[in-house]
Amino acid sequence: MSEQLKIKDGVVVSLDYTLRLDDGEVIDSSDDNEPLEYLHGYGQIIPGLEKALVGLTVGDSKTVVVPAAEAYGEVDMEAFEIVPRSMFPDDMELEEGLALSLRDAETNEPFDAAIAEVRETEVMLDFNHPLAGETLHFEVRIPALRPATAEEMSHGHAHGPDGHHH
Ligand code: ZN
Repeated sequence: MSEQLKIKDGVVVSLDYTLRLDDGEVIDSSDDNEPLEYLHGYGQIIPGLEKALVGLTVGDSKTVVVPAAEAYGEVDMEAFEIVPRSMFPDDMELEEGLALSLRDAETNEPFDAAIAEVRETEVMLDFNHPLAGETLHFEVRIPALRPATAEEMSHGHAHGPDGHHH
């Protein structure tokens, strides 16, 4: 009998998962989708989760708690910026927590921000990842594993069933 494939670098992992925050709120899950497929050992998923999956095999399930530092990082107090209210259209309703998709005026690169605070003439923007500072609670299950192809290894990511990029 051949040895059963276990999760290690160079294995393509199918992952069913439910992601909750400390308060139990479900913020992401593979329930309604195909399992997530990723190439293990190439930083395709957050480091704390990748580390915790090593050695699991098909059919295994596990609860993994990932501290912020090994997920999307701690909240960076430098990643806040105050901009004039006039930067936004007059009729735009600004409120705390509102997610914004902005473009850099110089490079035209898109980036995300959230409104941290609305003042009379100013708005404080938060450029941290929305999950910065959060401890992540994963319930994971491994429906399938397979060795990566040479092409996937050289690209550093998993390819879909038809061999195409996701
Ligand atoms: Zn590729």
